[in-house]
Amino acid sequence: MNPIASILEHHPALVIDGALATELERRGYDLNDSLWSAKILLEEPEAIKQIHYDYFKAGADCAITASYQATIEGFTKRGLNKKEAIDLIKKSVKLAIEARDEFWADQNNHAGRSKPFIAASVGPYGAFLANGEEYVGNYGLSEKELMDFHRSRMKALVEAGADPSTGSGQVMLACETIPSLIEAQAIAKLLKEFPNITAWISFSARDEKHISEGQAFADCVKELEDHLQIAAIGINCTSPKYIPSLIRAGKEQTRKPILVYPNLGESYDAAKNDWDGRPAVESFGDEARIWYDAGARLIGGCCRTTPEDISVIAGWVRDVSLRGGH
Ligand SMILES: [Zn+2]
Repeated sequence: MNPIASILEHHPALVIDGALATELERRGYDLNDSLWSAKILLEEPEAIKQIHYDYFKAGADCAITASYQATIEGFTKRGLNKKEAIDLIKKSVKLAIEARDEFWADQNNHAGRSKPFIAASVGPYGAFLANGEEYVGNYGLSEKELMDFHRSRMKALVEAGADPSTGSGQVMLACETIPSLIEAQAIAKLLKEFPNITAWISFSARDEKHISEGQAFADCVKELEDHLQIAAIGINCTSPKYIPSLIRAGKEQTRKPILVYPNLGESYDAAKNDWDGRPAVESFGDEARIWYDAGARLIGGCCRTTPEDISVIAGWVRDVSLRGGH
């Protein structure tokens, strides 16, 4: 059974973690670099591990690794050789596993919850470009070219998770912020080359109906429905205001659980490499309850969210749990 199904068998919802980059910045690390949190992977790995730990402590059932923007192409441009680049991608998985194992070694952390798992982040091609294209799509690449782009990192992540000394079988792939159907299909096809791994596919959306490139989210969900290795489908890094209708549209097309981990709803300015405007919701963690009611079963936060937000979500999820609600 995939880790999502086994947690949802015992709990009404699964709590995903929150932003990694935001939290690193809040703690004073400089991410002004085209490689984003991957820079810290290279220079300050302990900081990443600590944030994973803090999200587990806040109630997250899973940690998304710092590999979103980590690619072999990106790292070799920074002067690493291919082996060093692969090792660094694997390190993102190992740090999350270490944080999880340290957290779970303390029995006091077991109350009312399942053992957390690791979701190895597979960012879109647009994230590698580091110019905000993950919110646009239209790369002009074929399915085969996208498969070729994703293959080497995916292989490294799968291998890192399969290492028996680091917790075999507990890593899945978080294919996230995907702007286009063609990229999701390329990933779905590529997954067949790694038959023992499951993944979630999460799109970025432009409004309450459409993913970033413009396809209807409902159609994307329908296209992915028959892929057995895809354990959940959803939306991330999108304004909370679009989330309830996207959940309802997706839910009609699938029996897989729907996942959502929106951002705070500010807008991203790629030129400034920063977020503008005001958060779209008063309390992210309380708002998330609406997404549960709309039918989402994996809930967390993307950019700008914090361990405090995740702790509010975990609070009401465990409460539903205690009352036996499903
Ligand atoms: Zn995000």
